[in-house]
Amino acid sequence: MDETKKEMLKKLPKIDEVLLILEKQNIYDLAPRDIVIATCRKVVQDLRERIVNAMEKIPVESFPDAAIVAGKVEKSIRGLSNYSLRRVVNATGVILHTNLGRAPLCPEALERILDVGKGYSNLEFDLGKGERGQRYDHVSSLLCALTGAEDALIVNNNAAAVLLALNTLAQKKEAIVSRGELIEIGGEFRIPEIMQKSATKLREVGTTNRTRLSDYEKAINNKTGLIMKVHTSNYRIVGFTEEADIESLVALGKNHGIPVMYDLGSGCLIDLELYGLQHEPTVRETLTKGCDVVTFSGDKLLGGPQAGIIVGKKEVLEKIKKNPLNRALRIDKFTLAALEATLMHYLNPAVAPRKLRALKALTESVVDVKKRAEKLITKLQKETFDSLEFSLREDFAAAGGGSLPTQQIPTVLVAIKNKKMTATKMEEKLRRLEVPVIVRVDKDEILFDLRTVAEDDFTFVIEGLRQIISN
Ligand SMILES: *Cc1c(COP(=O)(O)O)cnc(C)c1O
Repeated sequence: MDETKKEMLKKLPKIDEVLLILEKQNIYDLAPRDIVIATCRKVVQDLRERIVNAMEKIPVESFPDAAIVAGKVEKSIRGLSNYSLRRVVNATGVILHTNLGRAPLCPEALERILDVGKGYSNLEFDLGKGERGQRYDHVSSLLCALTGAEDALIVNNNAAAVLLALNTLAQKKEAIVSRGELIEIGGEFRIPEIMQKSATKLREVGTTNRTRLSDYEKAINNKTGLIMKVHTSNYRIVGFTEEADIESLVALGKNHGIPVMYDLGSGCLIDLELYGLQHEPTVRETLTKGCDVVTFSGDKLLGGPQAGIIVGKKEVLEKIKKNPLNRALRIDKFTLAALEATLMHYLNPAVAPRKLRALKALTESVVDVKKRAEKLITKLQKETFDSLEFSLREDFAAAGGGSLPTQQIPTVLVAIKNKKMTATKMEEKLRRLEVPVIVRVDKDEILFDLRTVAEDDFTFVIEGLRQIISN
């Protein structure tokens, strides 16, 4: 290590010095002593590492003294009492944005969470019998009614649902899957890895683009535990393709006494074709075709809280419920409360797309999206945003969240150009607001996709723009 580095390390303020300054500023009003000391150590340690790792010479005079270090510690401690998880305005046009929390909850779901959460609840208490009940009972009747399933079980997310179903039905056995369906969702969920973790042996059949029924048939042996179909929910294989349909897989399974599972992913409960969208297999239609188990997410096209839903035949569900792994994947009362309220909207299938924001964003007519865009522009023009130029533009939004990958959803954007700031800088400033506004950037403009921006968001957009151009 060179001499200046050694000298600088020596000059680093002592923890006691920094503490003394902080104590004079009444630091213990913000946090207890052990947290303050640990934060001082961390800040000094970070500085030490910066010196040791510095490639270029750091000018000695620019180096922090005790007061500057104390300032850093105070800032870090203040940060602890700022909410990190916050609402944001999603102006990206990606409807089920996994990084932005996928489906927003409906007001009824939020009311149920509040009501159930603020006191005790009958989570696992059968009020009729006065004895222990099952937490899943609160939603299983609804789920069965809405999908035609015999029974239902809810776990933490769909990845957990697949893991649990595989582990129950095919532990130490083989599960047959087409090579065209070995999906990866969001970087971590990969069918081969989930198989491994569920102690199931993956038996791949067919090729990426073509898998026939005979491929499955040839793979069946005395170790086969399951035939698994996976909805390629986030991509499509097009061109010279072939896949075995569910009906014939179900018939094959019946012949050999092997259960058939379908990982549907999105969990669509309504007919999207009614809204001019591509056909997306619904849970009911998949069960009608005879699958023994179907798994799907609560926060994709269903439009509810994060959850993994397993529906299907009673005897299969009984086995899954008894798996000790189920206990480790179980969901909490808030999810159940929100899911129950979300599902209730589907009792009137025409109402669900109006009440559930993700479904609304997906099915709303482009005419209505355009009206909202015009309304936003009118509001923006009433402000004194001298440096800004606004325009409307037609484009396409996306379902996101591993759903409807090839669906082009017509949308309308509000494009904003700032004569005094680059689009990248504006994007960054909007992202760092107290209520962050997440936008798209295209060359010198930022774009607000009105398909995912509701009228309720307008005040945050306008106030946000006001703040970023004023400082
Ligand atoms: C999204 C998806 C999953 C993972 O679901 P999570 O709820 O995100 O855990 C699994 N399988 C398919 C087919 C999916 O589309």
